[in-house]
Amino acid sequence: MRFLVTAGPTHEHLDPVRYIANASSGRMGYAIAREARRRGHVVTLVSGPTSLRPPKGVSLRRVVSAMEMRRAVARYLPRCHCLVMAAAVSDYRPATPSRRKIPKGGKRWSVPLVRNPDIVAEARRKPGRRIVVGFSLETEKGETRARRKMREKGLDLIVMDDPSAIGSDTISCRILSPNGDREVLDGIPKAAAARRIVRAAERIWEEGKGGRPRPGKG
Ligand code: C5P
Repeated sequence: MRFLVTAGPTHEHLDPVRYIANASSGRMGYAIAREARRRGHVVTLVSGPTSLRPPKGVSLRRVVSAMEMRRAVARYLPRCHCLVMAAAVSDYRPATPSRRKIPKGGKRWSVPLVRNPDIVAEARRKPGRRIVVGFSLETEKGETRARRKMREKGLDLIVMDDPSAIGSDTISCRILSPNGDREVLDGIPKAAAARRIVRAAERIWEEGKGGRPRPGKG
């Protein structure tokens, strides 16, 4: 199969030196890319800014912002059989980024933000059969929210985790399926979780289920 994996945070610049981001390290996405390659798949990794070494044999495309990630995903999507959207895409970006460093002013500074497009929901609506896997980091009402996202974004699988996974080499998560199935993984290395996620995607592909474009709200 051809896999397209996204990883890491996105940086949304206010000016050439300042940006809005999140604490994602990219480790989970890199582990998935490495595992998919190890299992013989062709892998493109679209990575936000991280300090990780790219896995061997994987084609790496570096991006900075959500808008760049969206363009890269749109470019590689048509040929891919499985998109794993492990990136922690920033939900908002500054409405009017400046080309020059913004000088400091008064005691308060408010920055107008605009919503970024939902990359995975857009990808789901594109024609062609492919498996689409999303992530959902939740701090409360975890499974209810994650399942709602899976439905609204039209995903074939969603991996629900919590903030303890950020920057860690291990992860506690649940791999949720639209039919109500759940696989609970408790504090296992991200490499082992990656194996479960890649195998779950392979299974859906082999069974010929899922992977169809669906209208979603996204
Ligand atoms: O809604 P939430 O951001 O929690 O959804 C998480 C899933 O959606 C992840 O797979 C993430 O990569 C994806 N996402 C996206 N584009 C966004 C925000 C999230 O593809 N703008």
